[in-house]
Amino acid sequence: MSLIVTGSRSVSRVINTVQMREGAGFLVRRPFPTQTLMDFDPFLLLDHLGPVNYGPGQAVGAPDHPHRGFETVSYILEGKWQHKDSQGNSGVLSGGDVQWMTAGAGVVHSEMPEDEFFRTGGRLHAFQLWVNLPRVDKMIRPRYQDIPAAGIPEAFTEDNLVKVRVIAGEALGVKAVVDTRTPIMFLHFTLQPGGKVCQLVPANYNAFAYVIDGQGQAGSEERAVKEGQMVAFAQDGEEVLLSVSDEAEAPLNLLLIAGVPLQEPVVRYGPFVMNTEKEIYQAIADYNAGRMGKIDI
Ligand code: MN
Repeated sequence: MSLIVTGSRSVSRVINTVQMREGAGFLVRRPFPTQTLMDFDPFLLLDHLGPVNYGPGQAVGAPDHPHRGFETVSYILEGKWQHKDSQGNSGVLSGGDVQWMTAGAGVVHSEMPEDEFFRTGGRLHAFQLWVNLPRVDKMIRPRYQDIPAAGIPEAFTEDNLVKVRVIAGEALGVKAVVDTRTPIMFLHFTLQPGGKVCQLVPANYNAFAYVIDGQGQAGSEERAVKEGQMVAFAQDGEEVLLSVSDEAEAPLNLLLIAGVPLQEPVVRYGPFVMNTEKEIYQAIADYNAGRMGKIDI
């Protein structure tokens, strides 16, 4: 027997993320994994990088490193980033671009400030989301989907107060262009003061919002939310309500991220996320033996 649930989801939890400085002054907020929240099935990690202003020669990145067993999604709001990988792919990401990389069986990649951006310095503001792959897909061939900002579908509510960029899934009648292995929703909403939207989120999805900036209300109880908060929704309805009061002084920017939970064991070791410890040892051995390739472009 299945339980039919309709209506608007309530908020199950609000997590205040802590802003940290890493390495050379790199500003990072990480809603999860943390000691209080290890993951949010099917999601493994969300990093909010910046916004931070780099001086000339200050920007830092992540040189060659491997991944296996999941997908990394990079969403760049400001700055210029150069990606290269062992499959021969490369690309520069900047304002509004998305890269959806399916590491699958294994890839070695680098995520570095683009040369000119490094030289001159500038502002960086970006996100990285890790999406877990189901057991049957963990060893698939790596895949790389690069979507320039202009290729990301956008839509507005009738009153034009709410804009959505549809990175994955569907919103306001518009469908994403990215292929996902399991049903995933990744939406960037911008609500002007007085804006309100009711987003369909199927009942079997696990859903959360991350507030980039501004403040507003989320969930059926219209819980007040603000910059840096992760808002987890209960699985008690098929839509998520978001709004901003008429009196707000700034727009509300947030990511609404949701997916069908995999409900499989998660064993993680740095850049490898598998189902068993044995598979982790195999991943380390494969990487050490060079079986994930190397970057030669
Ligand atoms: Mn990486």
